[in-house]
Amino acid sequence: MTIPTLKLSSGYEMPVLGLGTWEGKPGEVEKAVEVAVNAGYTHIDCAWVYGNQMEIGETLKRLFSSGHKRENIFITSKVWNTFHSAPACKKNVLEILCQLHLKYIDLMLIHWPIGYEEGGDPFPKRKDCDKIKYSNEDYVTTWKVLEDFVKEGKIRSIGISNFNHKQIERLIANSTIKPAVLQIEMHPYLQQKKLRAFCSERGIAITAYSPLGCPGSTFFRKPGDPNILTEPSVKKIAAAHGKTPAQVVLRWAVQQNVIVIPKSTSETRIKENAALFDFQLTEAEMKEIDGLDRGWRFVDFSPGDSDHPHL
Ligand code: NAP
Repeated sequence: MTIPTLKLSSGYEMPVLGLGTWEGKPGEVEKAVEVAVNAGYTHIDCAWVYGNQMEIGETLKRLFSSGHKRENIFITSKVWNTFHSAPACKKNVLEILCQLHLKYIDLMLIHWPIGYEEGGDPFPKRKDCDKIKYSNEDYVTTWKVLEDFVKEGKIRSIGISNFNHKQIERLIANSTIKPAVLQIEMHPYLQQKKLRAFCSERGIAITAYSPLGCPGSTFFRKPGDPNILTEPSVKKIAAAHGKTPAQVVLRWAVQQNVIVIPKSTSETRIKENAALFDFQLTEAEMKEIDGLDRGWRFVDFSPGDSDHPHL
């Protein structure tokens, strides 16, 4: 299996399919990365806050010492919100490199445009209520540290996640390297057409997170939430191609030049999610799936505090 790539504005090629690792528990996630790489995946999506990079790093080390080439695997990670000041960002990037046993990261993202108070707790809370304690750190400061790491060769491409168009515009106006990638929630219920067009005009590639609508998540899904994989139109299109609803939903995204990073720790589903490149959806089928857009966000994690200085 050969996974197609997209050329980023940084000049590097990024595989259009990666393995998501959020909610991948220690033990399970190691196995998932190994199964994925052995099945032909060439891209792993990680983040400091997922708390499982040490296990992933051990697996990568093992894979790279048993015949897999480092340069053939694209690794993404993300600087967490409590590391937005310049010294903290530097520390976080070095820790990520160390956890993953890597000399360089292919793509480093700023995970969210908002900084949290620095300290030990990844989700620091205010004393008077249960709300997050923000910091005033500007993501432009964080970005400049990432630019320095690019110059040093420890990061190849840099990008952002969960930024809106105003934040992207402001970042571009204040940077020397423009973001290569924006990672956002995207699936048939949340198609992000305006933001994708905005990024396309600026040469920013899109990675869709939760591309299946996180069907098994107990964290973001509430009972009764809609399920993309049981949509009658998706099931009908899947049957017409002899594919599964998950494959159709992922194919719909990659057919629009969107990178997808479905998470799975099941060997069968990891392999299923990679079998996307031997069929094509027709224009009518693409339009039918386009019709499912309903602005539905599963990952409802945005701070919502309009008083934050950089929102
Ligand atoms: P997702 O990939 O849409 O869905 C994952 C869920 O779907 C898991 O419960 C998985 O269960 C199940 N699944 C996987 N393949 C399946 C298939 N073929 N058929 C049926 N069910 C299937 O959601 P996600 O994990 O939220 O997003 C993917 C990745 O994006 C994350 O892992 C993470 O790397 C990244 N992400 C980034 C951000 C951000 O802020 N930048 C936010 C969220 C996620 P099994 O494991 O049991 O197969």
